[in-house]
Amino acid sequence: MINYRAPSTILWSSMSKNAHSEPLPPLVVTNALMFSITMGVAVILVPWYGLTHGFTTADWIVALCFTMANGIGITAGYHRLWAHKTYEAHWSVRLFLLVFGTMALQNSALFWCSGHRTHHLNVDDEDKDPYSARRGFWFSHIGWMLREYPSGKPDFSNIPDLTRDPMLAFQHRHYLPLLLLANFGLPLLAGLIFHDVLGMLLLAGVARLVWSHHVTFFINSLAHMWGTRPYTEDNSARDNPVLAVLTYGEGYHNFHHIFAHDYRNGVHWWQWDPTKWFIGALSFVGLTRRLKRTPSFQIQRALLAMQFRRAQDRLASAPAIAASRLEPLRARLAHEYDSFLAAVADWAKVKEQWLGDKKRAVLEQWDQVDLQSKLRDIERGLRLQSRRLRDLHAQIA
Ligand SMILES: [Zn+2]
Ligand SMILES: [Zn+2]
Repeated sequence: MINYRAPSTILWSSMSKNAHSEPLPPLVVTNALMFSITMGVAVILVPWYGLTHGFTTADWIVALCFTMANGIGITAGYHRLWAHKTYEAHWSVRLFLLVFGTMALQNSALFWCSGHRTHHLNVDDEDKDPYSARRGFWFSHIGWMLREYPSGKPDFSNIPDLTRDPMLAFQHRHYLPLLLLANFGLPLLAGLIFHDVLGMLLLAGVARLVWSHHVTFFINSLAHMWGTRPYTEDNSARDNPVLAVLTYGEGYHNFHHIFAHDYRNGVHWWQWDPTKWFIGALSFVGLTRRLKRTPSFQIQRALLAMQFRRAQDRLASAPAIAASRLEPLRARLAHEYDSFLAAVADWAKVKEQWLGDKKRAVLEQWDQVDLQSKLRDIERGLRLQSRRLRDLHAQIA
C-alpha cells in the first residue's frame, strides 16, 4: 500500500474563496520557510559569493545543465508524460525525468499530476482549480502552496493509472530523502568533482532551484494572464512566445488547454517548444513512442471558430463602419460561416467513411488513398478560409 500522506517538507496546498472574507487557512510553514530561505540565499548570498569569490565556468555549466534537466523533468515528465499521457517512454527516459523532476522540488509526481488534472478539469473555478488565475497573480503563482486551502487537498481518485506505477509510487513514498539527495547530493558531487563545493551548492544548488521554481510557476500565473487566445476563450489560458522561451515550450498554454492530449504545446514547427523536440528526437531512436497529435483539421476548426466569433463581435459593435459597407461584410461573413459548417460536416463524413474503410483495408489489404486525399483537400480548404477571414478582419478593423 502506498502512504499518500504528503511529505512534511512540501505540502503543496491550495485555496478556496474563504480567503476573501473568512480567516485565512493555516500557513504551510515548511513551504513558506523553504521558499523564503531559498529566495533569500539566491538574492543575497549568491551575488555576494559571486562578487567576493567568483563562480567558475564549471559552476555555470553544471547549473545550466541542472536547470534545463529540471525544466524538462517537469515539462516532458510530470506534465506531458504522466499528467496528460501524451506519449509513452522507455524506462530509462522515465527514470531520467523522474530524477530531475524530483530535483525541481515541486512535490511528488503523484501530487503534481493529481493537482494538474484537477486544474484542467476545473480551470478558473475559484473553489476547485488548485491554482485558479482568477484569484490573482500571487495566488496562482505561489500563494496556493503557502496555506492549506481546501481546494488543494490531495485527492488521488483522478490518477488511478499513476498510483499503479511502481516508479512513481517509490518516488512518492521516499520523497523526502530523494529530494534531499537530488538537491544537495548532486550539486555536492559536482562541487567535489570540480573543486568548488560552496560555489556549486550556491549556483547549481540554490540559484538553480529558485529559477526553476519561478519559471515553472509562471505557467500557472502569467500563462493564464498574459498573451493571446487564438484557439478558445472558454478559459483564461494564453499563448505567449516569451513565456514559451522561459518554460521549455509550455507558454503555448491556450493551445494546451484545448488540446491537452497533444505532446506538443507549440504546435507549429517554428514555435519554440524544446520539450516537443526532446520527445520527438527520442522517438527517432525508439526511446519514446505513440506520440499523440491532434488532427490538423480539429486545430483549424478551433482557430476558425474563434475567428468567426471575433468577426461577429466586431461587426456587432462597429459604429464606425457605414451601413453601406456593413451589409456586404455581414453577408460575406455569413457566407464564409456556411461554407465553414459545410466543410466541418464534410470532414466528419469522410472521416467516418475512412475509419470504416481502414478497418476493412486491414483485412483486405487495400489502401484508402482517395479518402485520405479528400480529407487533405478539406483541410486545405479550411486553411484558405482562415486566410480569407484574416482579410475580412482587416477590413472590419
Ligand atoms: Zn493552465
Ligand atoms: Zn496541462
